[in-house]
Amino acid sequence: MRNLRALLFPPKCMLCGTLTDGDEICPACRAQVMLNTAPPRLDREGFFDAAAAGLWYEGGVRRAIHGLKYYEKQRYARPLARVMEYTLRHKLGEEIDLITFVPTNRKTLRDRGYNQAELLARELAALCGVPCVPTLEKTRETHAMHDLTPAMRRENVRDAFRLACEPAAVKGKRVLVADDVLTTGATLSACASVLKEAGAERVFGLCAAAARRKTAHPLESLENNEKDGNL
Ligand SMILES: [Zn+2]
Repeated sequence: MRNLRALLFPPKCMLCGTLTDGDEICPACRAQVMLNTAPPRLDREGFFDAAAAGLWYEGGVRRAIHGLKYYEKQRYARPLARVMEYTLRHKLGEEIDLITFVPTNRKTLRDRGYNQAELLARELAALCGVPCVPTLEKTRETHAMHDLTPAMRRENVRDAFRLACEPAAVKGKRVLVADDVLTTGATLSACASVLKEAGAERVFGLCAAAARRKTAHPLESLENNEKDGNL
């Protein structure tokens, strides 16, 4: 059965799509894909304590996360969670008591059948040996976040989450919120605000990948600054 499956669906690298001998990631991608070594981010809104991501959301990583999210590649969650676990140990370096995840709305869950953030959280929790606890739910639909400015993103997720567990489950705890992609941090911040209000001691965000920040300063601003004598 396994051989038939391998014949019909030969294993492919989740990052580049080349055939592999069964691994999710081929040797070439293992050698070439870069870990995200940017320092953890702090929350401008002051709710999460730090947030980090394991990879950059581009190229093959983007392909893999799309597969996980939209094309039923649930099996990609495990290798991505392995990178997240490494990131937790080496970049966040924090002890945590429980792992939770950014919830999705009911319609998406019904259409897709799963929440990719929950899959990542469950794999990560198994690797870390801590419980995975659903703590949050959505209060309303939110718009897709692409193409929204940072201010619009914050507005889009404001009050979009509420506690879905007993406050005792998070009170005094160090909670890690898992998600697939870190962009502005607005979603993690909105989730962290609910958890902090319920008494969580510390809240961290951990994502599989982060979008590179678009620079707010185009190259020409360097020339303007030079002219102004600011550089
Ligand atoms: Zn590859």
